Amino acid sequence: MYDLCKVGNEGLMGEVIQIVGGKTIIQVYEETGGVRPGEPCVTTGMSLAVELGPGLLSSIYDGVQRPLHVLLERTGGFIKRGVTADGLDHKKIWEFKPVARKGDFVKGGEVIGVVQETVNIEHKIMMPPDKSGTIADIKSGNFTVLDTICTLTDGTELQMMHRWPVRRPRPVKRKLTPEKPLVTGQRILDGLFPVAKGGTAAIPGPFGSGKTVTQQQLSKWSDTEIVVYVGCGERGNEMADVLWDFPELEDPQTGRPLMERTILVANTSNMPVAAREASVYTGMTLAEYYRDMGYDVSLMADSTSRWAEAMREISSRLEEMPGEEGYPAYLSARLAEFYERAGVAETLCGEKGSITAIGAVSPPGGDFSEPVTQNTLRIVKVFWALDAKLSQRRHFPAINWLNSYSLYKEDLNDWFTENVAPDYVAMREKAMDMLQTESELQEIVQLVGSDALPEEQQLLLEITRMIREIFLQQNAFHPIDTYSPFAKQYRIMQAIMKYGDAAMDALKSGVPASEIIKMESKNDLPKVKFEEDFDGSLNAVLAKMDKEFAALGGR
Ligand code: ADP
Repeated sequence: MYDLCKVGNEGLMGEVIQIVGGKTIIQVYEETGGVRPGEPCVTTGMSLAVELGPGLLSSIYDGVQRPLHVLLERTGGFIKRGVTADGLDHKKIWEFKPVARKGDFVKGGEVIGVVQETVNIEHKIMMPPDKSGTIADIKSGNFTVLDTICTLTDGTELQMMHRWPVRRPRPVKRKLTPEKPLVTGQRILDGLFPVAKGGTAAIPGPFGSGKTVTQQQLSKWSDTEIVVYVGCGERGNEMADVLWDFPELEDPQTGRPLMERTILVANTSNMPVAAREASVYTGMTLAEYYRDMGYDVSLMADSTSRWAEAMREISSRLEEMPGEEGYPAYLSARLAEFYERAGVAETLCGEKGSITAIGAVSPPGGDFSEPVTQNTLRIVKVFWALDAKLSQRRHFPAINWLNSYSLYKEDLNDWFTENVAPDYVAMREKAMDMLQTESELQEIVQLVGSDALPEEQQLLLEITRMIREIFLQQNAFHPIDTYSPFAKQYRIMQAIMKYGDAAMDALKSGVPASEIIKMESKNDLPKVKFEEDFDGSLNAVLAKMDKEFAALGGR
């Protein structure tokens, strides 16, 4: 099973997906029109594997790790079938610096040397996980990924590159519990629905609700060292946008191009389904490889719905018994297998690395009750529900704060208390409660208008409006607002709460709600988050607010 085969005179790449008695069923990754009986079919004796070694970063691959620029050179703008290309550049010279020495006993996964892959990323050359032995000879200097750099006493020759089958998770020493959040600088994500570094999250949303912008923001701003972006089965022009955009993005941590720490796997909807099915595993294996070096990796899959559809198509061709909506009965198991490969781990070389898996889901018509969304919901621990209504109102990021959730909140509370502020968690819960109450009051407001509400509730609606417009809304395209460090997030929320508390006090002492709502300083607050000197402007607004409240006094 899963052997890679070359089918027909053109040597089309395919994979064994079923064996029934003497009959072998091969799923070909490419168009098979015109292949006739009598043409040869050979197995390579290996399963679908990726090449792992220096040169992966900044590459753009298709689902079976063929570099797109090589395909372009060989076949022109439209990829012809039967083309093969190596995942890594076999001719490029890298400077290898050994860290292990002659006579050392090295186990699978241990580091034997390093290569400076990009300006900021040091690539560790590890023993393949399934090999170990005593070093008889280790070289230093300039080599290609195929040159022998190390020989073991049993005669095994090691290169900088090794291959790994994509469907097999790479082994780790042990998995650890995630205890730090992935810092994204996006207020609604960090503040209300944090994902742990090494956690799993899903972003479901209909077309145009901001999946791509959110994933790009996450790639750009998250505090991970490596980004693997799998474009799985989206339309060609959408994928093209990503391919154009990504190389132009600048890495805010280093000022260098973001591509230097990114690998793109692009598989559009017109590429064959089997390659699409494989692309997610390809991406995950690349992510695991960098995790094994001890890096924090984020893996974006856009979108897992297309991946599930590929599974459905293959399953129906195999005449398997269909489950819900025609998806195979093992849909849920496959999704779980994928997300399970994420996590924090102590790697074989003793480092601590992590993979945070973030999958976009595109349910048809935005209907969250369909099987892919539902099965994903069961597995992932964070759910960022994008909402078409919010995006129509231009409330961005259009993440619905009532439907979304994070199961990491409790686990991360200690981190927030220690690293952000002791009252951060309490403040967040208070804000969530208020938003919940707002949604209940909204029904009454729609019937009778907000003037019919008691003054206290009118004020509450005013405060939640501030939470939504000042804290939750964030413009990804504004140079300053695009990233909000924790200190800033905390101060914004604190300012809103300060106004809220003072407003409630003033109301109790007899000041009419209309006067409290009219306050000038309150109207200055929304602008503060766009200011370069955020702290200075906020301090000025807060001082003004104190004065205004003092002037209102009790009546
Ligand atoms: P999808 O991938 O879900 O089809 P996009 O990510 O392309 O949707 O988003 C559609 C549009 O919504 C974007 O072109 C942009 O104008 C707007 N948008 C989405 N998120 C934001 C954001 N955080 N800030 C500002 N605009 C946004």
